[in-house]
Amino acid sequence: MSKVYRATDVGLVRPGNEDALAVFSPECYMVADGMGGHVAGEVASGLLVEVVQEQLQGKASLTIDDLRSAILVAHKEMQQAARNTPAYEGMGTTATIFHIAAGNLCWAHVGDSRLYLLRHGKLDQVTRDHSYVEELVERGKLTESEARVHPQKNMLTRAVGMEGALDVDGGQFALEAGDILLLATDGLMNMVPDASISRILQEEPGDKAARLVSEALSAGGRDNVTVIVLEYAS
Ligand code: CA
Repeated sequence: MSKVYRATDVGLVRPGNEDALAVFSPECYMVADGMGGHVAGEVASGLLVEVVQEQLQGKASLTIDDLRSAILVAHKEMQQAARNTPAYEGMGTTATIFHIAAGNLCWAHVGDSRLYLLRHGKLDQVTRDHSYVEELVERGKLTESEARVHPQKNMLTRAVGMEGALDVDGGQFALEAGDILLLATDGLMNMVPDASISRILQEEPGDKAARLVSEALSAGGRDNVTVIVLEYAS
């Protein structure tokens, strides 16, 4: 049996939690990090999780395209909600979801929340951030360490609910027994270095999600933080 841990926390600075997470059948796991003024961020991530779940729940087996289309349905509904309600103008959310079936994992992703795979002691980032600083890194104009502290690091180039069409990344790979999967919002990565994330995933007994969240809080908890950890056992 695979083990799943999940945790979300408002952090120590923000007034509300704009992150959302969901674990639902058929073996789907997702995190979302909402943005927008007042309540709009919470509404955006909540709406995403609700719509995606509604689209996918109870289906027999899912493909990358199913995950993508579910996010796109949420994208359209969010744009509509923003047009209808002035307070929701400019709202959006990240969306990172994966689904496991028959030893295979497929994922879909928009924004700067992340999916990581820890295999044979090595932590790999599966998704690429859709952010302004990530573009600069890819063009060689910024190093990874400069990107971590860049003043515009929160600026997304893609988000669910943003104006216009949305391009959703997706992929799949075969799982191995012992793989550990991590889904997290940037409130984790911005506070806890990869080396510590990797160590906690491998060494800490018990609830690894709670452990990662408490690490982000001890480091200052400047943002909402949301984590799902899955220890895969075929
Ligand atoms: Ca965040």
